[in-house]
Amino acid sequence: MTKFVVVVGGVISGVGKGVTSSSIAKILKECGYSVTAIKIDPYINYDAGTLRPTEHGEVWVTDDGGEIDQDLGNYERFLDIDIPKKNNLTTGQIYKTVIDKERAGEYLGNTVQFIPHIPEEIKKRILEAAKGYDFGIIEIGGTVGDYENIPYLFATKSMERDLGKQNIVHVLITYLPIPGNIEEMKTKPTQQAIRLLSEMGILPDFIICRAKVPLDDVRKKKIEVYANIRSGHVISEPDIDTIYRIPLDLEKESFSTKLLNEFGMKPLKKPNFSKWEKSVEAITKSKDEINIAIVGKYVDIGEFSLTDSYISVSHALIHAGAAINKRVKITWVDSKKFEKDSKAVNELKNVDGIVIPGGFGSSGVEGKIKAIKFARENRVPFLGLCYGLQLAVVEFARNVCDMKDANTTEVNPKTGFPVIDIIESQKELMKKHEYGGTMRLGAYAANLKEGTKVLQLYKDSKRLEKDQARLEELRADKGQGFRLGKITEKNVVLERHRHRYEVNPKFVPQLEKCGLRFSGYHERFDNTKLMEFIELEGHPYFVATQSHPEFKSRLEDPAPLFLGLVKACK
Ligand code: GLN
Repeated sequence: MTKFVVVVGGVISGVGKGVTSSSIAKILKECGYSVTAIKIDPYINYDAGTLRPTEHGEVWVTDDGGEIDQDLGNYERFLDIDIPKKNNLTTGQIYKTVIDKERAGEYLGNTVQFIPHIPEEIKKRILEAAKGYDFGIIEIGGTVGDYENIPYLFATKSMERDLGKQNIVHVLITYLPIPGNIEEMKTKPTQQAIRLLSEMGILPDFIICRAKVPLDDVRKKKIEVYANIRSGHVISEPDIDTIYRIPLDLEKESFSTKLLNEFGMKPLKKPNFSKWEKSVEAITKSKDEINIAIVGKYVDIGEFSLTDSYISVSHALIHAGAAINKRVKITWVDSKKFEKDSKAVNELKNVDGIVIPGGFGSSGVEGKIKAIKFARENRVPFLGLCYGLQLAVVEFARNVCDMKDANTTEVNPKTGFPVIDIIESQKELMKKHEYGGTMRLGAYAANLKEGTKVLQLYKDSKRLEKDQARLEELRADKGQGFRLGKITEKNVVLERHRHRYEVNPKFVPQLEKCGLRFSGYHERFDNTKLMEFIELEGHPYFVATQSHPEFKSRLEDPAPLFLGLVKACK
């Protein structure tokens, strides 16, 4: 039977509930158990695809095409597994299912009510998502006391009754502020969070205390007594230099032993964090530093700069750096400034590599094109991701192939050279205003051409083997089989997508003639070839992809194209 660890937040959000939950999952995995994670987002949006990236950060994409909260990315990065979209629950999905069922007569004769129908649907989905695993980590978004959390807390409380208390543990993650005027760590907000949770009938089995500095024994004791929990179950988690240190720190407090003990279990093997520790050392202490600019759009929001929109890109860079014992410094650059000041792009002289990440719309686009031109002409290592590939194609068309006003039709629908365009099936969807979940989403097979740098990078990694197993699964899966398309080359890789526009097949021969190499493509069953990778010969590293390889990068298995980039950086 699957056992559950439910993680809820208290006091404030944004204190690392997601990374702490991922760390708990990682520890259990290291003890020899199979673990999956379920993220609950209590908003009414059906998925994260329609949320504002500047408010909610990046949209995470799963292999099976889910558009999900970025927290799921942490689980994949920590656990090195692919998590399907069913592992993300939103209030929108729950209510839609219940209402659809009611319309279909499934509850005929009954009054459909908040209790029991909503929590029942929640529990059903949780059990389905965790089926077959030893442990399911359930992370409930937001903090206790939020109105929108109530049905989920009700559901996990009732799981205690269904499954038996010995099979479910509640972990409360709180924050202990140190107000500047008194310089003393305060436990009161934590006490209030405990009380709010108890109003739902839930008494936490562990309290993990986030704070600027470690918790002292006096405060630990105070919280322990207040919450009436076992000694040693108040765990201190102070601010640290990298999130990847959290599992190591939790283990310093013997967290795995204490947690398994709650379930009456023992580790199946002794946790071995030696490789993980080595990466953490590289990330934090390596003397060798490389400076990479992420030239993007969502960088400045009001008085704050929000780098969360590119969180997976920055992690993929960090993973790749760690693999070659280099610390990656990221310089966040707002592409708009290259538009205002034509000389500003020269500041990219000071970086070792340039990444153009994904994006939408026309703002900042000309600045990104300038940065790409700079990278191409000055032989600065460059990696383009999704929009980054599309704009690299635009730049090449304009400045090398002499297609003066070349553009993507996303920016200029009237361009004479629509080198990036929307394909017919997408046009239909747009006409019908069907925006939710209709982009090219999730993993698609790309045929890699022999003799390309891109193929070599994948060959040097574990990915071709890993993806081979996944290809077999897809062959057997009718619902997802379209992701394969026609397999025409010996080497195939699966990368995740989230976009509507594509390289316009009409221009491929012309671009190739001017020297742009298309290193891989997806071939749909209707014979349409969608370009997946480009590269330039004779440049130290000029590679771009229509996909988002950052979604498959893990601390212990970095994404090949990112590894290629950091290796090319001086
Ligand atoms: N805006 C582009 C498209 O929709 C690129 C999207 C992206 O970078 N994720 O095709």
